[in-house]
Amino acid sequence: MNGIYLLLGSNIEDRMRALNTAVSKLQASGMQLIDHSAVYETAPWGILDQNWFLNVGLKVETSLSSHDLLLACQKVETQMGRERKLKWGPRIIDIDILYYGNQIIDSGSLKVPHPGIPDRKFTLILLNDLAPDETHPALGLTQSQLLEHCEDQSEYLPTKYQLDIDLA
Ligand code: ADP
Ligand code: MG
Repeated sequence: MNGIYLLLGSNIEDRMRALNTAVSKLQASGMQLIDHSAVYETAPWGILDQNWFLNVGLKVETSLSSHDLLLACQKVETQMGRERKLKWGPRIIDIDILYYGNQIIDSGSLKVPHPGIPDRKFTLILLNDLAPDETHPALGLTQSQLLEHCEDQSEYLPTKYQLDIDLA
């Protein structure tokens, strides 16, 4: 992969506003926004009895290390009132690191590429918007190939929502 890719998701309160707030807070904490995917509405994962999510994929540039990037993302989550109660439960904002270039990291607190990528169709839809021909550094497949092979049946819908953010 050439670049750093993040996945943002929100499924409570004003979901679009939460995505926009998160993007500006990420920009203020040392990330330049290079590109973003369309905004999709996606069925919840794991715990099905909750609102649908809005999700967007970002390509960013930063001088932060992968570990510091994770801390910066978690700080934005906390500032926005994210409560860590339930794995896969409702959240005002979730920020996951999908790829950090071609780095492969498996530390206690950080796994990159994000292990959910090959199994989650909506994630691959976003990545396929952003970088269809770039290769997963561990699996050796492009984002479009991963999407083709993904058997996830969860529903997702394109939306007309737009991030109100300018690219760097
Ligand atoms: P999830 O995103 O799986 O629903 P959380 O956002 O609560 O759940 O994250 C749980 C933990 O996942 C975090 O404490 C973080 O240390 C860890 N984690 C591991 N790899 C990543 C990654 N690539 N991006 C974000 N968090 C990660
Ligand atoms: Mg997360």
